[in-house]
Amino acid sequence: MTDLIITNGRLLDPSQDLDGVMDIAIEDGEIAEIASSIDQSTAERVIDAKGLIVTPGLIDIHTHVAAGIRKASPEDMMGDADTAGVYSGVTTVLDAGSTGAYNIGGFTNFIAPGAVTRTLALLNVGTMGVARAPEVRDADDIDIEAGIAALAARPDVIVGVKARMVSPGIKSLGIELPKAAKKIARGADTGAFLMVHVGDIMGQDPVAAELAPQLLSDVLTEGDVVTHSLSFQIGALLNGGKLLDEVKAARERGVYFDVGVGRANFSFESARQVIDQGLIPDTISSDFTQAGRHVGPVHSLVECMSKMIALGISLEDVITMATSRPAEVLGIDDEVGKLAVGYDADITLLEAVSGDFIFRDTVGGMHKGSTALRPVSTVRVGQVMPIDFGPRPWGWLPEQA
Ligand SMILES: [Zn+2]
Repeated sequence: MTDLIITNGRLLDPSQDLDGVMDIAIEDGEIAEIASSIDQSTAERVIDAKGLIVTPGLIDIHTHVAAGIRKASPEDMMGDADTAGVYSGVTTVLDAGSTGAYNIGGFTNFIAPGAVTRTLALLNVGTMGVARAPEVRDADDIDIEAGIAALAARPDVIVGVKARMVSPGIKSLGIELPKAAKKIARGADTGAFLMVHVGDIMGQDPVAAELAPQLLSDVLTEGDVVTHSLSFQIGALLNGGKLLDEVKAARERGVYFDVGVGRANFSFESARQVIDQGLIPDTISSDFTQAGRHVGPVHSLVECMSKMIALGISLEDVITMATSRPAEVLGIDDEVGKLAVGYDADITLLEAVSGDFIFRDTVGGMHKGSTALRPVSTVRVGQVMPIDFGPRPWGWLPEQA
């Protein structure tokens, strides 16, 4: 007895050079068979994916999904895991430091187990996370021992540490700020990585630009992640429009570069400059928040992916950047991120819609595109989940020209 067969879809998994109309069978939450035609007579459920793209479940490695365990008011602009996740076509989300050593128990004990979406977290180097932003004002806001203890206690959920290179922490602590985060990541011996947010959105302090090369050369090692790689903010990867020289060596060392669109960390102009100087990011993420979803410019991971297509990155590469590559970053690429027999049945059904679309950034820039991805269905360990109405008054698609 097969639980589910997805038939007639275009199976697209560039990590395995898989691209073609094929059937995929799911049993006990795992992918059981992939073939040009699978017998449907014993299947409990069949989904006809004609005209759709079937990809490994999308993975968003920069989200904020700690809603409900922080402020009891609408000011808490975090989102919730399944809104960023399965209801948006995303099967795995990583919360990027919404909570820290003193409040991450709310995340590990309530948020992660309560979600259908595979929900992982980074521990913010600031003890209270961005529940109190700025989360690091001085050394008193960092507790290395408590951070290590949290990582050691819940490596099933907490896979790394997050540090934001923002004021006033970068001014009071300098390079010691990310170094403290690195100390926590290393200290637990759980294989945790460090994700750093570059770009001083909190203070636009010139010290951010001084620290960026040092961060890339002296702090980040193989498996660590730079988020907001396409940012226009001071202290990100551009200095006077020029991509930092240290990026290349960091990449060769195995440091990953993530997009993290967010509300103030991306412009089409800076994205163009970074990409034209040779840095195509490894992963696409949204930096999802409730405000980013509804007010924009984030809206959804699929819209962020459509923006990258508008910037000239191929559909195949965009899928890789939201499936197999982020799975590798998270160290779960032996379970998810591929359409392969024995892998978890985390699968996304997408429609590639053609049209005259307009994408906007937060600094007045806009970019036209002719392809927009729309999530149609999510399968999470074999369970078929509905997609919600979408972030826009009209649903999922971007603004039309
Ligand atoms: Zn963020």
